[in-house]
Amino acid sequence: MASANQRIFATRRLPGAALASLPGGVDLEVFDGAAGPDPDTLVRRAAHADGLLCLLTDRIDAALLDACPNLRVVSSCSVGLDHVDLAACTARGVPVGHTPGVLTETTAELTIALLFAAARRIAEADRFVRAGRWQAWDPELLLGRDLGGSTLGVIGLGAIGRAVAVRARALGMEVVGWSRSGRAVEGVRSVAFGELLRCSDFVSVHVALTDETRGLLGEEALAQLKPGAILINSARGGIVDEAALAERLASGAIAGAGLDVFSEEPLPADSPLRGLENAVLLPHIGSASFRTRARMADLAVENLLAGLSGERLLQCGNPEVYAAAEAEKSSG
Ligand code: NAP
Repeated sequence: MASANQRIFATRRLPGAALASLPGGVDLEVFDGAAGPDPDTLVRRAAHADGLLCLLTDRIDAALLDACPNLRVVSSCSVGLDHVDLAACTARGVPVGHTPGVLTETTAELTIALLFAAARRIAEADRFVRAGRWQAWDPELLLGRDLGGSTLGVIGLGAIGRAVAVRARALGMEVVGWSRSGRAVEGVRSVAFGELLRCSDFVSVHVALTDETRGLLGEEALAQLKPGAILINSARGGIVDEAALAERLASGAIAGAGLDVFSEEPLPADSPLRGLENAVLLPHIGSASFRTRARMADLAVENLLAGLSGERLLQCGNPEVYAAAEAEKSSG
């Protein structure tokens, strides 16, 4: 049980009732700004915290950890932990919580929505009607691509990649997949990375963003996509080279893209993607359903409370922190 005088700093108000359910007496401070604290403010406000509840927009690095000597746990309300220096946390004995599992289906559904939107030009068609450009039914108006009978290539067969594969198969797609571990997934034909790019009508990205996956879909990989292919990214922006993608979309080398995530968020005003009719652009809403955001908040708070009471986190992004602590205990 977390003790009454422990301090928690939360970088944002969370949906649902999770924060209200904290045990009485725990000292909770919630940052009130709409965009979350900038790095300097975060260092200042979290300095005395025992527990830090953060989002994917907060950078948790060695400098922040050094400024927070009491910190016993970092809990992120996200599955991705590319904003957290996990090695720095482990070195300081700080477990890092995250929220896998509870958002898998919701993010897979959003990915399927992006597939449909890009394939059938939904956002473009909506803009067309609103702009008063719909003059007549035309047999060649806004033709798109069928999902059924097409091949989907899934890059990264983790929880979300597999959930997307199940849904794509139900839509009549053939699914091929690549993952670094070469894991076998029922109904998914395992192929090499290059073959996936060359044989897929649709490619959907689901790997975590790490030093190894940053730029995985760079200029060279994008050049291997089939003419008329459609690229979907609901994982992290840094995995895809956006400038190279924009060039291929503008030239018509590939037919479209559906993007929920970007290397810089919010998407800058001068991004070349903004002017492209064949790119569907979403503001990072993969897990944004009422139910899932509340579940994420609940799990983030459970992780936080477990860390404050010295218990193992329900979902820990750096489980090696426990092995390190055990080794230290037995050597001491
Ligand atoms: P997961 O089950 O942990 O799957 C992660 C995947 O990334 C696995 O396929 C894993 O490969 C792969 N991977 C990790 N490190 C890699 C590396 N160095 N090289 C190649 N592949 C690597 O996570 P998940 O729940 O499916 O989520 C996947 C990602 O989706 C998250 O990391 C997050 O960034 C993103 N996401 C976005 C939203 C959104 O709002 N758009 C919502 C939720 C999640 P192995 O299976 O071979 O280990």
